[in-house]
Amino acid sequence: MTELNKLTIAEARDLLRSGDVTSKALTEACLSAVEGAGALNAFVHKTPEIALQQAEAADARLKAGDAPALCGIPLGIKDLYCTKGVPSQAASNILEGFKPEYESTVTQNLFDDGAVMLGKLNMDEFAMGSSNETSAYGNAVNPWRRGNDDTALTPGGSSGGSAAAVAADLCLGATGTDTGGSIRQPCALTGTVGIKPTYGRCSRWGIIAFASSLDQAGPMTKTVRDSAIMLQSMCSHDAKDSTSTDLPVPDFEAALTGDIRGKTIGIPREYRIDGIPDEIDAIWKRGTEMLKDAGAKVVDISLPHTKYALPAYYVIAPAEASSNLARYDGVRYGHRAKLAQGDGITEMYEKTRAEGFGHEVQRRIMVGTYVLSAGFYDAYYNRARKVRTLIKRDFEEAFAQGVDAILTPATPSAAFGLGEMKDADPVQMYLNDVFTVTVNLAGLPGVSVPAGLDKQGLPLGLQLIGRPWEEADLLNTALALETAAGFVDKPAKWW
Ligand code: GLN
Repeated sequence: MTELNKLTIAEARDLLRSGDVTSKALTEACLSAVEGAGALNAFVHKTPEIALQQAEAADARLKAGDAPALCGIPLGIKDLYCTKGVPSQAASNILEGFKPEYESTVTQNLFDDGAVMLGKLNMDEFAMGSSNETSAYGNAVNPWRRGNDDTALTPGGSSGGSAAAVAADLCLGATGTDTGGSIRQPCALTGTVGIKPTYGRCSRWGIIAFASSLDQAGPMTKTVRDSAIMLQSMCSHDAKDSTSTDLPVPDFEAALTGDIRGKTIGIPREYRIDGIPDEIDAIWKRGTEMLKDAGAKVVDISLPHTKYALPAYYVIAPAEASSNLARYDGVRYGHRAKLAQGDGITEMYEKTRAEGFGHEVQRRIMVGTYVLSAGFYDAYYNRARKVRTLIKRDFEEAFAQGVDAILTPATPSAAFGLGEMKDADPVQMYLNDVFTVTVNLAGLPGVSVPAGLDKQGLPLGLQLIGRPWEEADLLNTALALETAAGFVDKPAKWW
């Protein structure tokens, strides 16, 4: 048998159920893989005691024939999720020492379904970033490299630790969150699969807020099937999140027939942007051919407001962040600055926030406060909200014409070198999200599927965007793409 940590969730589930493997053995294999992968800096808090306890409980349930969907499956949890009694810091110094008294709804759902938590995963601070370099823990590292070149590459962001951990087989799957691409972009850069479901599919309760009208939880896994299995457990209607939906959760895995004959796939012409590497264009064309060969009808579509998506996102997301992050004031959570004689409450707020937040988070708070200020509210924030409505309408019109899913590149490049963007204008980093933010602005489901390798041997991903609430259908199209692409490559182990 292959090393247990290399199994997919579906494979492990079958071996656990047949009694050929115990959760304890599986969990120990993952814990030792985590121990051996310090160089990836993927896990920022390890929870081996909790993992082994949960594994033991899972083994008892398996033995008793009472095994829920994820019974005994070891997962990593993004540091943005509040996990009871376990450090949950959103990779920020301002939440230093914060151990929540409660469990997020999504992690509770996973644990109710028998999942095992190996620890908390690295990410960009408060999920703001595309390279994992804004983390207070230092960046996670992509297990992939350019051929024999040992330049350390970004695993993407913000869910970079999750992507690195899944790609390096440290866990069977991981949770991510996606506000503007933070599940799909890291998955694309690491050869893994991730879905951001429709806004409202997963409860946001207990997930540290970045931009509440955009944030969604989702799974990051080795295969499309595993994403379907994990998403099933993560979704629920939750009275504690008024934006979570009361729709029934379909059986995502049961929908995976791989048959997409008669489906209509839209190719949006506005996503063909200048300066994109030929290889991205080529993989997009290849993906289109694959879906055609699988029996889908491919049509050209127009999403005319696409070019305004990035500016609108970088107004709306900071605006919401500036409000959400106002609560970190040195009184209620985490870090408080040391005060000098004579300092009052204002100095306490100022010093705490100046010390606790990193540069990118401070930049977002300043931008957000500015666009919400009385003099500029209409010019920026309200205008961005109107643009958001137009972007949503573009998608609605495409779907009304019978399009079932939209195929685009997931990212404008393969993984880039850590530190390469250090001196660049911050807008250069924001351009990473050019293909993904539209989906959050419109509240739609989007999935990233590994489609091939570039000339340097790095994975490239394609994105499929679906109709609202039709994740089952979207995952099935993703399965057809995954099957046709036949991506089986793994990073060569160097860590
Ligand atoms: N990279 C984007 C940003 O920095 C998206 C982040 C996310 O999806 N959490 O805002």
